[in-house]
Amino acid sequence: MLPADDLAADLREAVRHGDLFAVFQPLIDVASGSIVAVEGLCRWKRDHGAPVTPDEFIPLAEKLGLIHEVGRFMLDECLAAVDHWRRAGTPLEVSVNVSPTQLAAESFSTYVSEELSRRALTASALTIEITESLPMPDIVAIVPRLHRLLALGIGVSLDDYGTGHASADRLESVPVTELKLDRSLIQGDSRQVMRALIVAVERARERGLRIVAEGIETQAHLTLARNLRCDRAQGYLLGAPMRIWDVDALLAA
Ligand code: C2E
Ligand code: CA
Ligand code: CA
Repeated sequence: MLPADDLAADLREAVRHGDLFAVFQPLIDVASGSIVAVEGLCRWKRDHGAPVTPDEFIPLAEKLGLIHEVGRFMLDECLAAVDHWRRAGTPLEVSVNVSPTQLAAESFSTYVSEELSRRALTASALTIEITESLPMPDIVAIVPRLHRLLALGIGVSLDDYGTGHASADRLESVPVTELKLDRSLIQGDSRQVMRALIVAVERARERGLRIVAEGIETQAHLTLARNLRCDRAQGYLLGAPMRIWDVDALLAA
């Protein structure tokens, strides 16, 4: 393991030299079983040293002020992929993870909207994912930004639902189109977790939100997602994050 300073210098170099790349994880429509969307996830191609996961380098990019560059790169890769699948006659939607720092920028929604127009993509093909694990004041601060994205027709997903400390009541005031149930809920086996899961799904459905189950690793998890009448499901059982050409192969199969 490199000392933190070396890692920071390496990440700066990686961003500058284009050593990041995007992988895409399928999102399956639970009712039909077909791929309807993908989530774009960032990877760092390192030619030396141990691999570094996004859980490590995304917070580091935030700290170093590199997150805007990383975010622009990922949005571009994800929209280019959507354009590619549309042209191929197999349209897919895309979800992109966005950090609070990116959303805090005044220009964020304009930038996203321009990028969609540049490729003549419909806004509904894009969903922005924000994590529920943020402190509530940080979530409240980005609410006006979320309204702007929604007004443009872009989807907003509350990711990692069930991991944060905010109560369900407070989260009701956060404007989103989708709730992504964290894998700790899907994979949890206690009665308490199951109760929390059922309540979350009922409330989300009352709000008319799309419900996505994350962390589907086994047939039992998929059955649970089906029984809960989740709209979409994502997890290693259904497809790991993969390069764009592997998504193409999956679509062709
Ligand atoms: P996330 O947004 O919750 O993404 C889902 C993570 O769960 C991914 O990890 C994915 O590879 C992993 N995963 C998918 N299916 C399964 C499963 O069935 N079981 C288990 N155990 N894990 C599964 P990954 O790619 O390592 O990303 C970790 C986190 O890093 C992401 O969590 C997200 O918060 C952040 N991240 C990744 N790419 C980006 C990015 O481009 N921008 C920002 N801001 N954050 C990113
Ligand atoms: Ca996510
Ligand atoms: Ca998640």
